[in-house]
Amino acid sequence: MIVMSHVEKWYGDFQALTDINLAVRKGEKIVLCGPSGSGKSTLIRCINRLEDYQKGEIRVGGTRLGDDARTIDAVRREVGMVFQHFNLFPHMSVLRNCMLAPMRSLGASRAEAEATARALLERVRIHEQAEKYPAQLSGGQQQRVAIARALCMKPKVMLFDEPTSALDPEMVKEVLDTMIGLAEEGMTMICVTHEMGFARQVADRVIFMAGGAIVEEAPPQDFFSNPRHERTRKFLGEIL
Ligand code: ATP
Ligand code: MG
Repeated sequence: MIVMSHVEKWYGDFQALTDINLAVRKGEKIVLCGPSGSGKSTLIRCINRLEDYQKGEIRVGGTRLGDDARTIDAVRREVGMVFQHFNLFPHMSVLRNCMLAPMRSLGASRAEAEATARALLERVRIHEQAEKYPAQLSGGQQQRVAIARALCMKPKVMLFDEPTSALDPEMVKEVLDTMIGLAEEGMTMICVTHEMGFARQVADRVIFMAGGAIVEEAPPQDFFSNPRHERTRKFLGEIL
């Protein structure tokens, strides 16, 4: 589904990603963790081309992610993304937030877009707030809207970049439960998160990054009970 081979990325002369090799199968759930500045956001942002990269290759569903705008658009339609700070459009209702992209990029009619949006808002249990504006919702509710909005594009892969780290503790669970539901339905997911309970429950593999490189990857039971690298042990010691 996603294949990254020998990907290198620089910001100016700072190397942010070094020789990234990662293959994610359909339906697989990956948790990506690592210290601040290790390149987690950069890595997942490369997958939907919010960042470009200088060397190596990224393929999403067989399409090579290069420079041409058509391919980038095609890949973005298949890859949904949820950010730490929700990034909802503040001047639009929850419902409009969810209808916009399907109407603009998938050519959905207003009626189709609304039906899909209402169904997905119901699935994240926010349908009663459909006419509200983002600022009228709690952080956890806004994040669930952001998930529904991404799902309205019927993506084949979902990328999450620390979706719960800006939330008050009591709202973390509602968002994680939504993500767990999605995982159980078979969605292919890459989640940057330090929620290690979620990783244990959902991840097929946990990947640990440091200094722009993948240091270690393992199924959660091995990753937590038997980390092989000193840096992984140190990281786990700090967050668990
Ligand atoms: P965090 O846990 O704090 O979100 P991260 O693992 O997501 O960290 P990235 O945001 O991917 O880390 O950043 C990796 C490195 O690249 C950092 O050293 C960061 O300072 C640098 N970096 C990120 N974005 C830019 C940019 N636009 N220009 C220059 N350097 C950048
Ligand atoms: Mg980040």
